[in-house]
Parts: sequence; C-alpha cells; structure tokens
Amino acid sequence: TPGIRPLIAGNWKMHGTSAWLGELRAIGEGFAEAAGESADGVICVPATLLARASETLRGTPVAAGGQDCHAEESGAHTGDIAAEMLADCGAAYVIVGHSERRADHGESDVEVAAKAKAVWRAGLMAIVCIGETKAEREAGETLAVLSRQIAGSVPEGATAASTVIAYEPVWAIGTGLTPTADDVAEAHAHIRRELEGRIGQENARAMRILYGGSVKPGNARELLSVPNVDGALIGGASLKAADFLSIAAAA
Ligand code: PEP
Repeated sequence: TPGIRPLIAGNWKMHGTSAWLGELRAIGEGFAEAAGESADGVICVPATLLARASETLRGTPVAAGGQDCHAEESGAHTGDIAAEMLADCGAAYVIVGHSERRADHGESDVEVAAKAKAVWRAGLMAIVCIGETKAEREAGETLAVLSRQIAGSVPEGATAASTVIAYEPVWAIGTGLTPTADDVAEAHAHIRRELEGRIGQENARAMRILYGGSVKPGNARELLSVPNVDGALIGGASLKAADFLSIAAAA
C-alpha cells in the first residue's frame, strides 16, 4: 500500500534452541541486502530463546518478537509470560491470537484483544492474527468471520504505531495451500474497510495488513504485490535464513 513500509515477520512457532542462533544471525546480517532499506523485519521466537535472539539480532535491521503473552502484568499464572517480560528480554513485537493459540488453547476474541492491550501496555507492537477456517470459507462466511474477529480482537485505540494485522486463512497455514491473489485482495480490502469503521480512516489507512499462510520464496512476489498486502507472516519458510531472506527480497 502506498506510504506503508512493509513488514516481513517470521514465526518460528515451537522451534529453536541455542543451536539455532546461527540461523538467526544469518537472517539479521542478510536482511538489509535482501530487502534494502525498504522493509522492516522481525522473527518471533519461543520465549525461551528471546533474550539470546535479541542479543544476536542487535545492530541488524531485524527485531526479535514473542509469539503470545498473558493479558496481565504479573500474578498467580504459573507458566504464563507477561508482555513486560518479553519486553525485558528485548522483544519489539508480540504475535497475539495466532490460529494455533486459538485452536490449541481455546483463545477467544475477547482474550486476544486483552492480550493486544497488554502488548501496548508493555510498549511493544502487537501482531493480531485473524483468518477463517476451511469450513468457514466453504460456507461463504470468510468476510463475516473477518468482520467478527476484527470487532472482537482488535481493541479500540489501535494505531499503525501499535498494531499490525495478520490475515492468515487457517487452512493455508502449514499446508502449502494459498488463496488466489483475487481472494487475498478481497480479504485485505475488506479488512481495511472494517478497520476504517473501527479505528478511523487515518489509522486504518496507515496500518500494516500482513498476509500469512504458506508464503514461500516461490509465491512471495505474487502475494506481496496484491493490493493492501503490506508484508507477510511466515512460519515454515522463516526457519531457514535463505528462504526468509528470499521472501524479504520480494517485499
Ligand atoms: C504462521 O505460522 O503464521 C504461518 C503462516 O505458517 P506457514 O508459513 O508455515 O504456513
């Protein structure tokens, strides 16, 4: 989208120990050459790797991010991690509402919105994920689902400086399947319109809307050139520096 700086975001999911820091260093060191000065980069790593990841990426154009957080700042929540703790480890972004969190942990739109606010409270950028399931797409409900998820999981007060939206059709994540360019264009235009209603035209027009779901070096250029696609959220292909950098080069 004119005037919007794209974001190329990686989601390492439950992959990555200290043995992976070399891959991360390669991503950080190669990013500027791949994407020039024209895109931002972030890799969202497991919380256990975050401190070392942000250390490894220091001085490169690529930021480190988390993949989830608890809505509260502290408290009796054994095993959970606050956004402030991710910030303390050097995170700049936090993914919230990824479909795997929604499916594996039953996260609702209301919880996702609370987590997005927690990310803001910690001074970080929230990447809020939305997207329809295969059944919802086949039932013709895609746009209605996106409207509902935006209303429910994007808090009022979201701005382009605090929030990124990631459109990730659930059926396209990790499957090798992608929607057609026309389907992506329709979904992203719809998301932009819905955001205008929710957070105002100025904020909505500046907000990055990423596409995610089986983005690979081979399809990145086509997907990233779709109107209203302002970057990508990349799972599997972010695990290898060469693949991630090749996608960044398409931005
Ligand atoms: C993701 O994890 O958000 C994702 C889009 O995964 P993949 O690129 O592997 O489909």
